[in-house]
Amino acid sequence: MAPVLILLGPPGAGKGTQARMLEDDFGLTQLSTGDMLRAAVATGSPAGLAAKSVMQAGGLVSDEIVTAVLAEKLAGITGQGIILDGYPRTLAQAKALDGLLTAQGRAVSAAISLDVDDAAMIDRIAGRFTCANCGEGYHDTHKLPAKSGVCDKCGGATFKRRADDTAETVRDRLAAYHAQTAPLIAFYAGRGQLERVGAMGSIAEIRQSLSRIVGPRGLSIQMGPAPSEEVVQKTIDRYVKAHRQVSATEMEKEKDADQAGRY
Ligand code: AMP
Repeated sequence: MAPVLILLGPPGAGKGTQARMLEDDFGLTQLSTGDMLRAAVATGSPAGLAAKSVMQAGGLVSDEIVTAVLAEKLAGITGQGIILDGYPRTLAQAKALDGLLTAQGRAVSAAISLDVDDAAMIDRIAGRFTCANCGEGYHDTHKLPAKSGVCDKCGGATFKRRADDTAETVRDRLAAYHAQTAPLIAFYAGRGQLERVGAMGSIAEIRQSLSRIVGPRGLSIQMGPAPSEEVVQKTIDRYVKAHRQVSATEMEKEKDADQAGRY
C-alpha cells in the first residue's frame, strides 16, 4: 500500500526542505498545505481570501478551510506515496485526515517529528528564501546558491521570501505550534506511529536520519498500517467459508464411499 508519512515540527524545523528531498529520494509526493494556501491567496480564491489575514498574523487557518483544500489535492493522487508537510496541525485535522485516508482505503504509515530548539528557529526562518521558479530553498547564512544570484537546481535568477517569515510573525507561529500542533506528537505516539528525528544538524544529516526511517524496507516491514477491523473480519470470513467448503467436500466423499460400499 502506498505509504502516507506526516512531518511534524515547528516552523523552521525543515519540514519543507526535507519533504522535497523525500520526493527526490523515495518518489513520494509532497503535500504542503502552506503552499496550497499561499497559491489560494495568490489567485484570490474564496479559501485564499479567508486565509490571507490569518496567515499574515501567524495564526492557524480554520480546520474546515485547510481540510477542504487538502482533500481536493488528495483526491487526485489516490495511488501515490505521500509526505504531508504542515498537515495535520490540530487534533481535529488529524481525525479528518484519518477519514480522508480511510475513504481511499489507506492509513497513516508514520508521523515523524523533527525535534529542534525554538530559539534557533527564529534565525532559520528570518534568513530563508526560495527560488521563484523551482522552489529550491536557501538561507542567508547556512545555504547560499553556489553562484550568487543563480539557483543551483534550475538556473533561475529570481528569488522570493515569504510574507510571514519575519521575526515577529515567527513568535506567533511558534506559539500556535506549541498550543495546537505539539499535542499531535502524543497522539501519534499513542497509536505506535511516531518516529522522532533530531533536526538541529545539517540538512544532509537530517536527510540521512530520515532516510533510515523512510527507506522502503524499513517502511514496509516495520510500519505498515495495522489492518482495519473490517479487513480483519473479511479475512476471518474468508477462512471460515473456505474451511466449510473443505468439510462439505469431505462429507460428499464419505457419502459416495458409503454408497459404493467401500468401507
Ligand atoms: P507553512 O508553510 O506550513 O509554514 O504554513 C504557513 C501558514 O499557512 C501557517 O502559518 C498557517 O497560517 C497556514 N497553514 C498551513 N497549513 C495549515 C494547517 N494544516 N492548519 C492551519 N493553518 C495552516
